[in-house]
Amino acid sequence: MIQLKNICKTYVTGDFKQVALDGVSLNFRESEFVAILGKSGSGKTTLLNVLGGLDQYDNGDLIINGRSTKEFKESDWDSYRNNSVGFIFQSYNLISHLSIIDNVEMGMTLSGVSSAEKHKKALDVLEKVGLGKHLHKKPNQLSGGQMQRVAIARALANDPDIILADEPTGALDTQTSVQIMELIKEIAKEKLVVMVTHNPELATEYADRIVQFADGKVVDDSYPFLESSINNKYNPKKTSMNYLTALKLSAKNITTKKWRTAITAVASSIGIIGVAIVLSLSNGFDKQINQFEKDSLSNYPITIGKTAISMQTAPRMQGDKDKKLKEFPDTNVIYPYDTSEESNAHVNKITKEYVNYVEKLDTSLLDGISYTRNVNMNLLKMEDGKATSLSMSAAGFMTYPSKDNSFKDNYIKEYYDMLSGEYPQSKTDLILVTDQYNQIDKNILKALGFADDKDSIDYDTIVGTEFKLIYNDDYYKKAGKYFVIDGTPTDLSNLYNSKQAVTLRISGIARIKKDVNISALSAGVAYSDELAKDFITNAKNSEIVKAQQKVDYNVMNGSILAEESESGVAMSSPGSASSNGAPNMMSGNSGQVTLSKEDVLEALGAANIPSSISIYPVDFEAKEQITDYLDKWNTKLEEKNQIQYTDMAAMITNLSGNIMDAITIVLVAFAGISLVVSMIMIGIIIYISVLERTREIGVLRALGARKKDITRVFNAEIFIIGASSGIFAIAISYLLTIPVNAVLYNVTDLKNVAQLNPIHAVILILISVVLTLIGGFIPAKMAAKKDPVVALRSE
Ligand code: ADP
Ligand code: MG
Repeated sequence: MIQLKNICKTYVTGDFKQVALDGVSLNFRESEFVAILGKSGSGKTTLLNVLGGLDQYDNGDLIINGRSTKEFKESDWDSYRNNSVGFIFQSYNLISHLSIIDNVEMGMTLSGVSSAEKHKKALDVLEKVGLGKHLHKKPNQLSGGQMQRVAIARALANDPDIILADEPTGALDTQTSVQIMELIKEIAKEKLVVMVTHNPELATEYADRIVQFADGKVVDDSYPFLESSINNKYNPKKTSMNYLTALKLSAKNITTKKWRTAITAVASSIGIIGVAIVLSLSNGFDKQINQFEKDSLSNYPITIGKTAISMQTAPRMQGDKDKKLKEFPDTNVIYPYDTSEESNAHVNKITKEYVNYVEKLDTSLLDGISYTRNVNMNLLKMEDGKATSLSMSAAGFMTYPSKDNSFKDNYIKEYYDMLSGEYPQSKTDLILVTDQYNQIDKNILKALGFADDKDSIDYDTIVGTEFKLIYNDDYYKKAGKYFVIDGTPTDLSNLYNSKQAVTLRISGIARIKKDVNISALSAGVAYSDELAKDFITNAKNSEIVKAQQKVDYNVMNGSILAEESESGVAMSSPGSASSNGAPNMMSGNSGQVTLSKEDVLEALGAANIPSSISIYPVDFEAKEQITDYLDKWNTKLEEKNQIQYTDMAAMITNLSGNIMDAITIVLVAFAGISLVVSMIMIGIIIYISVLERTREIGVLRALGARKKDITRVFNAEIFIIGASSGIFAIAISYLLTIPVNAVLYNVTDLKNVAQLNPIHAVILILISVVLTLIGGFIPAKMAAKKDPVVALRSE
């Protein structure tokens, strides 16, 4: 059934060639006990290894059940070893970290026999060799004879056709040797047993056939078998170790060196701990910053002004609008541009429709909206018994944000304290706003008619002060060609006291609340937009406005008005440089203020479109909805017709977010270096483990394990180390956040800064596993490549 035909095998070490088998031809019967005798170094072990498919012959042929092995693939040899051959070694070669029963089951484990069947077979053979009571002992708890019995049981377990025994009694005393020989002889009744021995007495006493060996050649054969074998089918089952088996095997191995594994895992976890702490800190700081920004920036308004600054858009080339200009370009040209054209500021043309659109905003999203209008309402004040006109700009007039006409849920109530008096109750109520030091510019106070030469002014002096609002038709009277203020230059008292005059009153003094970070109002007088709207509605139909609309000179004094300049269109002529959008307060040849007709009409109250709108969201979420709403307006519009808003808070938030991200990346990179170190360390540890387990690798291969299975065993070990070090690292990191937070709380008053994101934790465990797998990849491959013969010879 098994035939060696002129087998040759030469070992080459450097220049030296050692012929181990030199044309060996032998036929074996299906069941017989063959003893091979010969001097040390004569090639007996080599012959057995070739017979068992553990070593490859150079020349000749090995025929198994009539099938030549010349074309055998690696996997064929693996299954041949696993199914057809059982090895018994002089030094037993049991896997020391596995129990007796596990050792016996290993071959069957490799060929995927079910665990129940495996167990039953293992029990049977162990019973047969007389070790039924030692199932769960480890090999080192047995005597030499017992260990060899285990090895025999292992060889028999998978019910092979051939048992190959290499000096099985070489390490045993005579009495034990006899027992082992009896056992082997028993086996040889059913199987082919080929046993190498240096003991001729034992051979002659027990063997059926003695083959004498010398210098790699057969010199004598006591009972040759001359028939050439008939063509039997040979088709053994393929072997395959599943991942779970690999994992169990490695887990068992790892338990034998708990401390080393633990220390390895701890050491390689340090990198992960570093990264985890950095991430948890950055995560926490991010949250803190976000919270802080939400708290502090939520009352930053979204503003829609004449221009919108967008930090992202670079200016474009004048000639070629598609070409964006680069910062700090590396060129030898300069780019001329027109200042009146948009550079990177977008020019908004706010229309009546747009104002209506904004007014339809869901009020629940708003703290309020405020409008800036360049209207100059006609206001009079009484000072020292004399009525004089009050300049709105000098007195720091501004509208306060509000969201409806009710004056109930007022923006002022939410963000301002009333130092004296009461919150505005109607549209004719004004409030005086101070800064957080109770200061107000003395020029403003002077303009309002309050003494400016005192160090302090009592609240009572201010609260209740009245002003009069006079509508255009009462205020301006035509005198000859021009309009003049009725009663000027001598006395405005008649106007002040007339019944058409609307009484305005300072209802109280307001100051920003302590915990509010941004003040919507600067120090001065704040009034409601309703008041301005009233005035504008009335003013539109007034005589002076109608008159002004007809002519191109100022109807109050005949002065020439500047040409209307429309923003965004280049039409500047030499000498009249006008900057985009803003009223030309500083332009003109003479340096005088040159107003346009538009400006004058606006001041008279003829324009009902505000020059800018500020929207105050209730919170960050509301702000997003508001910006979405505003963005919707632009969707179908060309870029130049779009109305863009400026969201200062978002700009600040983006900036701080970017900085935080940058810091995190740098820190993670540093911590990452230690990850690389742990990876290398894992590589070294696995390499040592490979060296230590060389013999085990040999045994596994002899039992039919594929190279792949060996890789699996080591990968499983690496996986266990990687996963446990990752889990350990995450556990430690979670624990470390406690003292880290305590320290940070002490130093910065910030609570719970370090927070490890669970997603990060999972990712880090995965990274730990992946890195260790990478680190252990090469050693695991090395293990798989080990020549089983060399592996078994190693000590
Ligand atoms: P035996 O088992 O009869 O003592 P071996 O089969 O172990 O002999 O060895 C036969 C010859 O081959 C010896 O000279 C030995 O030194 C040599 N040999 C065995 N294995 C190797 C090897 N892996 N590399 C080089 N030479 C080897
Ligand atoms: Mg030998």
